[in-house]
Amino acid sequence: MNSIKKKCGFINILGSTNVGKSTLLNNLIGQKVSIISRKVQTTRNSIKGILTKNNTQLILTDTPGIFIPNRKLDRAMISNAWKSIEDSDLTILMIEAKTSMDKNEILISNYLRKKKASNLICVINKIDKVSHSSLLKITTVVKEHFDCREYFYLSALKGDGIEELKEYLFDNVPNGPWHYSKNQITDVPYRFIAAELVREKLMDRLHHELPYGLTVETEDWNGLDDGSIRIDMLIYVHKLGQKKILIGKNGNNLKLIGSSVRKELQIMLNKKVHLFLYVKVRSNWDKVPEYYESMGLDFNV
Ligand code: GDP
Ligand code: MG
Repeated sequence: MNSIKKKCGFINILGSTNVGKSTLLNNLIGQKVSIISRKVQTTRNSIKGILTKNNTQLILTDTPGIFIPNRKLDRAMISNAWKSIEDSDLTILMIEAKTSMDKNEILISNYLRKKKASNLICVINKIDKVSHSSLLKITTVVKEHFDCREYFYLSALKGDGIEELKEYLFDNVPNGPWHYSKNQITDVPYRFIAAELVREKLMDRLHHELPYGLTVETEDWNGLDDGSIRIDMLIYVHKLGQKKILIGKNGNNLKLIGSSVRKELQIMLNKKVHLFLYVKVRSNWDKVPEYYESMGLDFNV
């Protein structure tokens, strides 16, 4: 048994649109999360980025739409912001380096002060855009509005200050069991992302010829001894004619799709990938219980 106690912390990143939340998340986790995030945008609002080092796991979420400029910051949004603060071990409050606060920041500041939020970490971002001499003024203004445990100066874009922030986060999350495995960098299963990728490439290539009701499933996912991964995927269509279109002349369509999916997966996983695509005709796929299960639905409704 491992004698070192495990630590795990939920950290949410709060801040106005465009302040650099996604850039920070990507920089903390690695480029791969942003690729994944684009893929799942249609199905989910935000995905978690997971960072594990030694005995500690950080689970980071960027909170979209907490304060949106030009929109009335109503009670619902405020209570939403508050809930995400209460639900996490640490909250990174991200503010752009500037010498004045906007309307939304002032509203949020008043609210947080009233609530006496105690788990706030302030990150002043985009310091690459301001002069060194203005940092003192910026700090004074930020501290007038936000009472945080700690203040960090960052360029999420260039990476300045990231290591100090990371170290602080790792040192300041509570003891607790991990929620994800050591190598996982997001809460979306890769099997699902791989299937989405295949569907996307099929759509790019076939346009209007894409068979209605086509589904893609990841059938097998195996790590090989040399560190590479073998992935077997099934593409289901209704009719034989659709299968022929999909495969293309001399298998050309499938070859091109397979090759571009494989390249993206290799970047995401940082591993060599052997990808096998099969096309099957399943005329009544939408009546099969496993299909419903794979979509997270109950067949017996
Ligand atoms: P979000 O809306 O808070 O998620 O913000 P994004 O991460 O999407 O970033 C918004 C814009 O700000 C993008 O064009 C980023 O490249 C840019 N950006 C993010 N961090 C920095 C930074 O540290 N310095 C500069 N100059 N630009 C940044
Ligand atoms: Mg964002």
